[in-house]
Amino acid sequence: CGITAAVGADDAVSTLLTGLQNLEYRGYDSAGVAVADGGGVEVLKREGKVDELADLLSRSSMAGRVGLGHTRWSTHGPPTNANAHPHTDCYGDLAVVHNGIIENHGELRERLSEMGHTFSSDTDTEVVPHLVEAYVDEGESVEGAFRRAIGDLSGSYAVAMVHEDEEAVYAARQGSPLVFGVSDDSYYLASDVPAFLEFTDDVVYLEDSDVVRVTPEGYDITDIDGTPVERSVETVDWTS
Ligand code: GLU
Repeated sequence: CGITAAVGADDAVSTLLTGLQNLEYRGYDSAGVAVADGGGVEVLKREGKVDELADLLSRSSMAGRVGLGHTRWSTHGPPTNANAHPHTDCYGDLAVVHNGIIENHGELRERLSEMGHTFSSDTDTEVVPHLVEAYVDEGESVEGAFRRAIGDLSGSYAVAMVHEDEEAVYAARQGSPLVFGVSDDSYYLASDVPAFLEFTDDVVYLEDSDVVRVTPEGYDITDIDGTPVERSVETVDWTS
């Protein structure tokens, strides 16, 4: 139901938590975060309140400059720890958060299961990390695999991903909101602007079929095939 991402922030974990707290008004049943540091991906998630996730995080050593956060409003599978986002592939080397519904998840899950993928949740979302993994296994780059996986989805979604090989966040949207926040030395993604308003008020409103790759050094916005698209940065005025 709510996505956050932070790239380049000194402490992505606290930034992500702030974002999730700011999105609490949207309603949710579970929450989780993932960080990637170019050498591994760590995930913490659980059913229940963001406060409970915050408690779990305060007892962990999770840290990094690049990460994802999620609050879930279940559509496929009950609110459980296993069904909470982020979701990972078989190896645990990438993590995905998703808002919306992937309509063709049944046929994708069947195809992936026949290829030997095992699933650990009941969600529609979990096909995404497994698709990316399958394409990386075929020899695609992380970016190429993400694009192909997104191209396989039908339905409405905002999706964000981190992979252990890169200090980067990939994100895409189709029919679900996703906004991109730009600051001098850090970047933010969220379902809604209030998630990151204390960090920046410079915003790009992403459009359907946009794919964003964000690193601490900068960002690219392209269409699904990788052709650059022009999106302007707007300064949000929340005083009026
Ligand atoms: N369909 C996904 C699920 O049930 C995402 C729901 C959401 O938007 O939070 O896990």
